[in-house]
Amino acid sequence: MKVLVIGNGGRESAICWKLFNSNKVSKIYIAPGNGGTLNYGENIDISVDNIVELKKFAVNNKIDLTVVGPEIPLTLGIVDEFGKDGLKIFGPSKEAAELEGSKDFAKKIMKKYKIPTADYETFTEYEEALKYLKNKGVPIVIKADGLAAGKGVTVAFNIDDAINALKDIMLDKIFGESGAKVVIEEYMDGEEASILAFTDGKTIYPMVSSQDHKRIYDGDKGPNTGGMGTYSPAPVVTDEVYKMVYNDILVPMIKGLKEEGIKYKGVLYAGLMISGKEVKVVEFNVRFGDPETQVVLPRLKTDLFEVFEAVAEEKLDKIKLEWDDRVAVCVVMASGGYPGKYEKEKLITGIKEAEENGLLVFHAGTKDENGKVTTNGGRVLDVVSIKDNIKAAVDDIYNKIDSINFENKFYRKDIAHKALKRES
Ligand code: ATP
Repeated sequence: MKVLVIGNGGRESAICWKLFNSNKVSKIYIAPGNGGTLNYGENIDISVDNIVELKKFAVNNKIDLTVVGPEIPLTLGIVDEFGKDGLKIFGPSKEAAELEGSKDFAKKIMKKYKIPTADYETFTEYEEALKYLKNKGVPIVIKADGLAAGKGVTVAFNIDDAINALKDIMLDKIFGESGAKVVIEEYMDGEEASILAFTDGKTIYPMVSSQDHKRIYDGDKGPNTGGMGTYSPAPVVTDEVYKMVYNDILVPMIKGLKEEGIKYKGVLYAGLMISGKEVKVVEFNVRFGDPETQVVLPRLKTDLFEVFEAVAEEKLDKIKLEWDDRVAVCVVMASGGYPGKYEKEKLITGIKEAEENGLLVFHAGTKDENGKVTTNGGRVLDVVSIKDNIKAAVDDIYNKIDSINFENKFYRKDIAHKALKRES
């Protein structure tokens, strides 16, 4: 089977790596891909939002299945477009993708179907929002309604920060149309974790849990990033929590959407806030997380192509998911300066050595020009170790990661600190 994977991050590298190991897959194309996806297939120079060209490519090359990595093509309606020509594609429709594309939409559905989440109000007028904000006080959370590349959320602990965030979004319109509505939300305390699920709109298979590290510096300090490291499973997700997520969050969400006339197919990502036995939804994403995928998929024993195909064909109940009991840890190597300004085109060395030492290395912001691999983004490489326990996996990575070098490389030294603390 010929597969087209859309995207260019570490998430897509992990998806390609898994598909490359499927004996059902004969050829992988990646649009646009990165310096590492070349190891699994052919990079195609089409951007993720160019749906017309992506579709042309799928038709002309007789692609059997297209897999969508990032949210943008999903919210633009790539699944609906491919569907019109009977092209098989893995991911939710445009309507279903609103669950990530509009926080107001997601909150409305959660409220209607009694899915536990923070209380909220949505505003389109600055003065009204300001009045509400002042009345509620801090801590409080201000969110631009639409996509803002992870930058649209402010968790404010003083009122000036809250007001400034509101001004930025509603008066200065720094996120453009994404800020036409603002969601103001109650602050939730607790520990965050994620559970992603495969669903064909009928059957829901939650995957193993994971936990990201969003801040740039050790100790969860500094600005937010796309994610600096992950591990799976996350011990904060006890068996009880896992069951609650399935029964009280995933099932009512898929059922609720169905009642709204929306069939959800693909990956449903639930971002959770866990406090003791209480679990609430922080956000839903409509695709694999990055870098959660890099620790979840290496633990999946089932053939990923079969899972994708079963979802696309709405036959997920016909297969079973099997998981590796071991622990996976991922450390993201970034360009110095990220998430602010950083330089590109730094030569990367030592990847092969790290792989020979038993680490999995997924490329993210890299490019390969005639065998010369250089940096091409903020998050450059995702280094993964799979071991019997969390400490062994963490030690394994940090003992070996420095065989990989590029000028100004930066990575967090404390990935999985919460799990390690729990274990000790
Ligand atoms: P992402 O970068 O995952 O796309 P996003 O822009 O979709 O993020 P959210 O996930 O809703 O935004 O929020 C980003 C982060 O802000 C969360 O991971 C969480 O740490 C924090 N956060 C969001 N909502 C709340 C809340 N109600 N209470 C406390 N923290 C929150």
